[in-house]
Amino acid sequence: MNAISLVDLVGLIGFLGAFILMLLTPVRARSVGSGLKYPLAAAIGLLVFVSLSNVLEHAGVTTALDAYEDYVEVLFVPLIAYILFSRSTVEQLAAARSAREATRREHALLMNVVDTAPAGVMVADQDGAIWFANGEARQFVDATGEGASMSLGEGLRHAVVRAVTTAPMRMTRVPVEIDGAERWFSLSATPLDSGESRVRQAVVAFQDVSEQVASEHELEQYREDLEMQVDRRTGELLTLNRQLEAANQTGQRLLANVSHELRTPLNSILGFTEILLKETPGPLNDEQRRQLSFVHTSGGQLLGMVDSVLEMARGDAGHGAAVHVPVDLGEVLSQIVTPLEVIAAEREVAIRCTCPQTSIIETDADKLGQVVRNLVTNAIKFTDPGGSVEVSLEVGDAETIVRVTDDGIGIDPADQERIFEAFKQVMSEGRLRPSGVGLGLAICKELCDLLGYGLEVLSVPGEGSTFAVHIPHGPEADAGRHEGTE
Ligand code: ADP
Repeated sequence: MNAISLVDLVGLIGFLGAFILMLLTPVRARSVGSGLKYPLAAAIGLLVFVSLSNVLEHAGVTTALDAYEDYVEVLFVPLIAYILFSRSTVEQLAAARSAREATRREHALLMNVVDTAPAGVMVADQDGAIWFANGEARQFVDATGEGASMSLGEGLRHAVVRAVTTAPMRMTRVPVEIDGAERWFSLSATPLDSGESRVRQAVVAFQDVSEQVASEHELEQYREDLEMQVDRRTGELLTLNRQLEAANQTGQRLLANVSHELRTPLNSILGFTEILLKETPGPLNDEQRRQLSFVHTSGGQLLGMVDSVLEMARGDAGHGAAVHVPVDLGEVLSQIVTPLEVIAAEREVAIRCTCPQTSIIETDADKLGQVVRNLVTNAIKFTDPGGSVEVSLEVGDAETIVRVTDDGIGIDPADQERIFEAFKQVMSEGRLRPSGVGLGLAICKELCDLLGYGLEVLSVPGEGSTFAVHIPHGPEADAGRHEGTE
């Protein structure tokens, strides 16, 4: 056998093997369908025939098959064309199959989602026929059939038809009568493209919101009740307030009248006692003078108390507007301290005023004077014989401070805020209840507020006290003044 017939033999065996393999390949194998397998087997079969013919010819056995080789080769071209065509058809079929599969899976997923949605979802037409209903919606349909054979109860049907005809619609609440009871549904609708068809269809989603609506109604009811109650209570409070105001005014008028009525006879008592003490009507013995002095002192104290009560009864409005004018504060303070020296001397308390006479500031001298007089009177009253009281003035850039300092009994830290409240007095151990009614500091505080001044106390029990009036300069003072004069 020569080399050429050997090559032919190898070709023959190869093609034959391929041919057998092709025939044995199952048609289910991926991308080898029956439409591809047999044309391929035929094409390889032709190659087997050509190589067999060549082997026989080159081996010198026979050339009988040679005459058919041309036919075979002519067949080969359409067969290859057919195979290529089949191949692309097979690919298209496979692509179409996988697309169908993906669509099926997607559809199944969507159906699952729609079916498990907590809202009812349905496709309905304008006549109320139901074409599709998910699990939730099926609770409301009468028939369990599919397609338009499903129908709704009358109440919900009405609502769905309205939703289909007015679609698009978003969460519109409608009352629906079901089994004789009113229920509320929230409906949304999206129109479907009906193409050529004249039937109008829409996807309608709905939810039973009866409980929500009921609790909203309840809340609304509560709110209205509450508003009514608030209105009623406000009305009652306003009436009460008016009554209180009226009572307060009556009380203040009464207090002022009573205080005024007390002052007149008290002043007479004091006046007549003074005349008796001067011995104008005739001489007094020692005992009579002593007794009359008690009457005079007590009468004076009583007058002081009545004045305090009268002052307090006048209240804010009673103080009148503050009138700030430039004054020499040192001068004002000296004029306040001088008359009080007599009382201080009676109690054997030293008093001094260390106030520079050139401190010009804008203030309401009467009201500030009243504050300082009260503070100095207290300082003398709560300092034992042998002690001292000092009124001093500190002029700074931002403020001027008037201080009334004593080395008297002092005030317990726990009481230092309370003493500014009306009718609050502090009892010190081993001492008599202080004379007075506990209004002096309350009046001082009120006046300082009116003037826009600060009032503070620094005190150590047993060592003494300092009351300081802070008079601000500049805008702060203007603000206080403005408030005070309004
Ligand atoms: P009153 O002097 O009429 O008692 P105040 O309002 O002036 O009322 O004072 C209230 C209380 O504050 C006084 O009772 C007293 O206990 C205390 N207090 C006031 N000033 C001083 C002071 N300089 N030293 C000690 N205690 C004072």
